[in-house]
Amino acid sequence: MTDFKKIVLFGPQGSGKGTQAERLSGFFGIPQLAPGNIFRKAVAEATDLGKKVELILKQGNLVPDEITNAIMKERLEQEDCLGGFILDGYPRNKTQADELDALTNVSHVLLFKIPDQESVHRLSQRRVCSHCGATYHLEFKKPVQENVCDFCGHNLYQRDDDKPAAISKRLKIFHQETEPLLVRYEQRAILYTIDGLGPIAEVWQRIQDVFKQVHD
Ligand SMILES: [Zn+2]
Repeated sequence: MTDFKKIVLFGPQGSGKGTQAERLSGFFGIPQLAPGNIFRKAVAEATDLGKKVELILKQGNLVPDEITNAIMKERLEQEDCLGGFILDGYPRNKTQADELDALTNVSHVLLFKIPDQESVHRLSQRRVCSHCGATYHLEFKKPVQENVCDFCGHNLYQRDDDKPAAISKRLKIFHQETEPLLVRYEQRAILYTIDGLGPIAEVWQRIQDVFKQVHD
């Protein structure tokens, strides 16, 4: 049994990886680090980096690796990551994976597999709170009251990122740039493939089986 977990989650958009990352974070008591959230926080706080990120995102571009790596390094060096962490959405390409390897030793890599068609379908069901940023899913994680946030009572909306054109673009990037990274983790025997189809509770069970298998 390792005393800390440095977990990286891979999976296409809509694979349920974010939801399972939240569960894992609660289960192991370690932070979930998603670049999207870290970027949004930097933008909201209008830090130097945040201002740069805001402009890039407004133009509809991806944040360059140099900025992504810098912001993730800063985050990984914070005290709450000492006991482990869950990376959700990083690394996305070879440059980022090389940087992560230089920074730390990853202990587990989970790949969530679902067909592209299912990604598109699931994302079309995703809604976000306009006020607090809480995320919902019309099929798997419904708000108690339709179109209203459970936490703060504000309206929910569909992010531009969750519309078909943006989804296709990101799926393509996932297949071309992210999937080829898995080889390095497979070679280290730390890659576990999780079937992402089915209810959240079933997928969660599959994840628990992986950690049981590793540590029993
Ligand atoms: Zn809310």
